[in-house]
Amino acid sequence: MLKPLVAILATVTALSACSGGGVRAPDERGGVGRLLGRVIPFTGDIASRGNSSAGNLCGVAGLQGAAIAPITSATNGCGVAAPVQVTHVDGIKLSQPATLDCPTATALHRWVTQAMRPALGRDSAAVTELRVPAHYVCRTRNHRPGARISEHGKGRAIDISAIILNDGTAITVQDDWSRQSRHGRALRQMHTKACGIFGTTLGPGSDGMHENHFHYDTAAHRGGSYCR
Ligand SMILES: [Zn+2]
Repeated sequence: MLKPLVAILATVTALSACSGGGVRAPDERGGVGRLLGRVIPFTGDIASRGNSSAGNLCGVAGLQGAAIAPITSATNGCGVAAPVQVTHVDGIKLSQPATLDCPTATALHRWVTQAMRPALGRDSAAVTELRVPAHYVCRTRNHRPGARISEHGKGRAIDISAIILNDGTAITVQDDWSRQSRHGRALRQMHTKACGIFGTTLGPGSDGMHENHFHYDTAAHRGGSYCR
């Protein structure tokens, strides 16, 4: 009797998170907001992905957030079958809850703990926030009409533009990447280390579209990771 009750509670929590405002993906088409107008059948899957403010989202200690109902889209290729909304990674707040699938959320946690924190060295303990300009959004690659659906449209991608420290310092890809400074070196190092944790890594100098943020996704490429 306990299990179904937990399941119902998880569903209710997920729904209220959707209507709470401020947690929607930037692109409403096919996004979380679409779910409000219809009944969402409970699949039993939400509870299994975890729904804990104390961590253990996707079974990863240190991932905080909530499992949410499947995201469907009228646009072919968009949507996420088993999404989660990540609010904190290893105690670090995301500037907006990021809608991702569990493999991508797990990769983000690996990047924070195994790439970002070591690269930051003594600044690591001072990190309070990651600035996330984009996560789930139904759109084509680089917003080009007619192009293939971006990994962002599948919940497999996240963009990171800055790391905020507790003294208010913002380490930004835009300003610090090319500097011969401690923070510049840290950004370049954590981006290099992202390769392999993610299937695709793009940043300054990759294609001209990523000069002010890192793009990380878990797309599978023939021949290994695509890192630029
Ligand atoms: Zn991106």
